[in-house]
Amino acid sequence: MAGPDPSSLTVATRLVAGGRPERTPGAPVSPPLELSSTYVADGPVGYARTGNATWSAFEETLGSLEGGRGLAFASGMGAIAACLDLTPAGGVVVAPHHAYNGTGGLLDALERDGHLQVRRVDVSRTDDVLAALDGADVLWVESPTNPMLEVADLPSLLGAARERRVLSFCDNTFATPLLQRPLALGADAVVHSATKWLSGHSDLLLGAVVTSDDALLDRLVEQRSLRGAIPGPVETWLALRGMRTLHLRMERACASAAELAGRLRAHPAVRVVRYPGMGAVVSIELAGGRAAAEQVERTVQVWTPATSVGGVESLIERRRRHPLEPTTVPEELVRLSVGIEDVEDLWSDLDGALSSVRA
Ligand SMILES: *Cc1c(COP(=O)(O)O)cnc(C)c1O
Repeated sequence: MAGPDPSSLTVATRLVAGGRPERTPGAPVSPPLELSSTYVADGPVGYARTGNATWSAFEETLGSLEGGRGLAFASGMGAIAACLDLTPAGGVVVAPHHAYNGTGGLLDALERDGHLQVRRVDVSRTDDVLAALDGADVLWVESPTNPMLEVADLPSLLGAARERRVLSFCDNTFATPLLQRPLALGADAVVHSATKWLSGHSDLLLGAVVTSDDALLDRLVEQRSLRGAIPGPVETWLALRGMRTLHLRMERACASAAELAGRLRAHPAVRVVRYPGMGAVVSIELAGGRAAAEQVERTVQVWTPATSVGGVESLIERRRRHPLEPTTVPEELVRLSVGIEDVEDLWSDLDGALSSVRA
């Protein structure tokens, strides 16, 4: 791949310029969609479980944004599982109570089967996390958390993990590298569900890990090649195409989320607004309890009742609908993933639904 030196460019330009083919006369401007399971012998890649040109274009672009080298995985959970598999047998993992529920479920399963031990912490309570790091092997952080939107003091936590030689991973799905760059704050690796904002169109699943530690990268490459949680080239190509507009989508979605959070705070049907001051997710707790939350989900027309976050379309979901959701998440909590529609259309739809539950 080729193009201008990324270190001289802002993130917005890197999103557009990253992962392009070599600039030779007649070369395509867009990266190839390389569909081949095997390669002519004696080249850099022999078989497509270990490498693919479409992955490389995506990985190069994401790596440049996060400040490391990217590795694409079949899904966010594929990436997370590869990272957690690096925990030594019987090792201790410090993880948030309100981590993504797939991460929480996987940690529970690994603990149940005797592979590791989990110390659950409230990541917004820095002293508790620091205390839990003593004798730990891995720190798993997510900030803001899903769906409670707690914020961790990442520089303190990641710095302390580094001092204690605790391997640290940060799930940066909610912030994206536009709002937060955990490697620069001390994380050993950053994890993404590229299914969400990075790809941004709710049309694929993809995951990624980024690290600037070459030894760690080698271990993750080994995980991916041997366990086979590899992405499809088509998904990866679509994800990079989606990423070209990440900055524009985020700009709109984050501005709308801030605007909606302010208006929701003044709404009589809403008891609590959780909004960390950044990002495109707002969680609200309804004064009318679970029944009110369910009615709002059923009433909205512009918002779509569906799980997931990070697409161009706005989604609404009462999280406790999922049996795996921790019971510390209130029954009446509704998560709003704010898309890029007109904010006034989003507001009037939501306001109408919220007002109907009071009547
Ligand atoms: C969705 C999500 C995941 C899991 O990613 P998949 O691509 O669905 O496997 C992990 N972490 C966070 C924060 C997520 O939102």
